[in-house]
Amino acid sequence: MEAIMRGEAAPDENFRANLPAEEKVLNEFAQAAQAPPQEHAIASIAEAHRPRLTLMATQLAELERLLGKTERLSRWQDVRVGLREIASTYSPIRFPGLPEWKRAQFAAQKTRELLTLRKGETRLPLSHLLDRTASSPLAMVFPFEQMLGELGLGSGAAPVIGLSPQVVMGDIGVLRFAVAHQLGHLLESLGGQPTFTCTLLVKDDKLLSGEGERFANAFAVYLLAPLDEVQQLAGAYPRGKDWYWDAAQDVAATFGLSPRVAMTHLLNCLEESNAKQMLDTFRSDSRWWQYREDVRDHVESAWDDERRDLRERVGDLPDNNVQEALRRPRSATFEQFVSEASERGMLEPSTVDDLRVA
Ligand SMILES: [Zn+2]
Repeated sequence: MEAIMRGEAAPDENFRANLPAEEKVLNEFAQAAQAPPQEHAIASIAEAHRPRLTLMATQLAELERLLGKTERLSRWQDVRVGLREIASTYSPIRFPGLPEWKRAQFAAQKTRELLTLRKGETRLPLSHLLDRTASSPLAMVFPFEQMLGELGLGSGAAPVIGLSPQVVMGDIGVLRFAVAHQLGHLLESLGGQPTFTCTLLVKDDKLLSGEGERFANAFAVYLLAPLDEVQQLAGAYPRGKDWYWDAAQDVAATFGLSPRVAMTHLLNCLEESNAKQMLDTFRSDSRWWQYREDVRDHVESAWDDERRDLRERVGDLPDNNVQEALRRPRSATFEQFVSEASERGMLEPSTVDDLRVA
């Protein structure tokens, strides 16, 4: 509290000096944009953006302490213990032979229990997911248009999840997946595993991800749509020739998934041995486009609160351009806290300015 009153919550010169220079990032961006982004290139450019998220996480926490709004931070202290336990129980060290997706599935099931979702409670709204994990969503422009999000975790702070404006405005299924995916990374980092920079991208409705993304991807989908509940839902359908189209659409609407994730997940949950091949067949079928439209409409109407809720937390969306990517992330909560602290005379006007431009 003392620190923020002296204006130390605003980043000092050292911090600013360590941020990537605008010119350098623009060059890297221009180079990367010419060729299809390679995983290591995405990772290194995305890594350059992590300090901004970490800073925002720390500033939010400082402001919460200053204003005496420490409820979220205490919740984080509690939930962190539970998440850490899950992370260590299902760590790759403990289950060396277990496939990544299986480990993620167990961890996701335990996380659902930790988030006090009862068995048979299918709906997992983003508000519940964010509140229970004490995570704050932010809007942040990333150097790659298709990049979905990134996680920030400063010391003494609760997690922040940076989401690109395209994700916040786009397909609700993708948005939900992006948040759950970052919580997968959160679990990995709490488990003491090397933290990967998120290289999850979305192109059309296709999720592209690197090697290090397997756990977070599987964790996300099983967290949103548990295996036994998908099986139960699918079991209600008589299997006919066109069975999968309707069943996948129902899976998407019930659990709030994107068209492609819903179909892939349905095939995996039913343990189809040639799931990959089946997915390719569906995707090249002329009905795929109609299926995609139908799923989006259904998910949009079944989960229409999701985007509104998230927009409220995130506030104004930044412009979508590379320069914007170099500036601060956006958070409605942050703006509100700064205004409140300023009105209550807790911050010097110069500190307020520093906080707002940092
Ligand atoms: Zn990722």
